[in-house]
Amino acid sequence: MADKRATIIRGGRLINPGRDRAETADILINGDTITEVGPPGLAAPADAIAIDARDRLIHPGLINAHMHGHGNLAKGMGDRWTLELLLAAGPWITGGRTLEDKYLSTYVGAIEMLLKGCTACYDLTVEFPLPSVEGLDACGRAYADAGMRAVLAPMVAEFSFYEAIPGLMDALPPALQKEVERLRLAPGDATLAAMRQSMQSWRFDRASVRPAVAPTIPHHCSDDFMRKCAVLAREFDVGLHSHVQESKAQVMVGLKRYGKTQTAHLDDLGLLGPDFTVGHGVWLDHDDMQRLGDHGASVAHNPGSNMRLGNGLADVRAMLERKVNVGIGTDGANCSDNLNMYESMRLASMVSKTQGPDTDRWLTTGEVLAAATEGSARALGFGEKLGRVASGYKADIVFLDLHNVNWLPFNNAVNQLVHTEDGAAVHSVMVGGRMVVEDRRVVGVDMAALARRIEETRARLEGATLPNKQLFERVEHVVNSFCPGLAKMPYHVDRFGGGHHGHTHAAWVKR
Ligand SMILES: [Zn+2]
Repeated sequence: MADKRATIIRGGRLINPGRDRAETADILINGDTITEVGPPGLAAPADAIAIDARDRLIHPGLINAHMHGHGNLAKGMGDRWTLELLLAAGPWITGGRTLEDKYLSTYVGAIEMLLKGCTACYDLTVEFPLPSVEGLDACGRAYADAGMRAVLAPMVAEFSFYEAIPGLMDALPPALQKEVERLRLAPGDATLAAMRQSMQSWRFDRASVRPAVAPTIPHHCSDDFMRKCAVLAREFDVGLHSHVQESKAQVMVGLKRYGKTQTAHLDDLGLLGPDFTVGHGVWLDHDDMQRLGDHGASVAHNPGSNMRLGNGLADVRAMLERKVNVGIGTDGANCSDNLNMYESMRLASMVSKTQGPDTDRWLTTGEVLAAATEGSARALGFGEKLGRVASGYKADIVFLDLHNVNWLPFNNAVNQLVHTEDGAAVHSVMVGGRMVVEDRRVVGVDMAALARRIEETRARLEGATLPNKQLFERVEHVVNSFCPGLAKMPYHVDRFGGGHHGHTHAAWVKR
């Protein structure tokens, strides 16, 4: 920020979601904001810093609408895990973290996202048994240090995984019941007070790193707690984010507990609004989507994680038809194993195309790109500031190397960005007018030193979390027979007709 001179980017090919071709355009930046985009030869102040973008394809920074900063140290730790096994593994793969570990886990994810063309994210981060001012500050500092934008939401609940699923605790042998008792969370009021304190003492520029509130999964919280989370978020004018109808087991628990879908229940509680984001929404029915659309709410679509955890394929076309704002995310590296938004875009396109023969219902690559930029920006509460390379938007810009093999030949800009690009062509990345990746390296980061630090941390955590790992190994078979049992109960979401499946609700509710 010390340099007050303007920046002019000349000669790059600028992607346009509505067009096959990327025309050459010059981009003028003042401070952290794009002030003009125009044809080659655009006027600029004589002392402007010039960036030569010939042989570069320029696209707005991708925006990750749903990820978990704490998950980055757990990449690759699981394979054949359902969502419920992932939750049961949490104390092992996320446990025992010091303040510095929390920073490091968040930081390495920020570095990965920047290197893969992503400039902002919605991070749902967790601390046990409740969030702390220092912990959230450490995570915020990781994004500020990396030079990336983030919405940082402590993922909070009142009930542990074992308490949240009716009947699961009883399915455990008494000895294990006693052991999982140590996984109890803090009382809701203590958690709410910690979040309030964190937001009151927030020291980051909210245009770069801002707080939000994420009651993790509705049935892991009391209704009173959910309502208080919404009141808190709205008092501080920040976002609300929750995992809703992600797995079928979750849906069945929701129906049993509420007598209606989780979305219908959240609507009754007053949570839905333009500030509310549904994580996943794989099992939303059309009425749920209509409610979300009517409230101007968002869905963060995470196709990679939805497949990896066996949750299924979300019907994004039906969401868009009901005016739901859709963003795209990677989900945590503990269940998608990377934070690659190019891969998420590609999967979002593929997943839409596997769901039926009617090509009109498939997502276009332009729609996918719009979701991963403008749609995600709106979910983050950064609508009309992020997600486009246009006058008035923040200068969050990715420069792809058109000599990379992904672009040989260069036939169609948007199709290739979504279906061909995998991050390998990312040459430089700018956030708020400042280069944070240059020539495929994160500016100012010593990757060898970071690797040493990460390995020391990994080795220490492996030892520290061994008891939690052993506990997971003892509960695994119980969780993995009880929860799939729930998921096998009849429940049908009609994908292609308008009809609903009311009788399956009723059948469950009567039990
Ligand atoms: Zn998630």
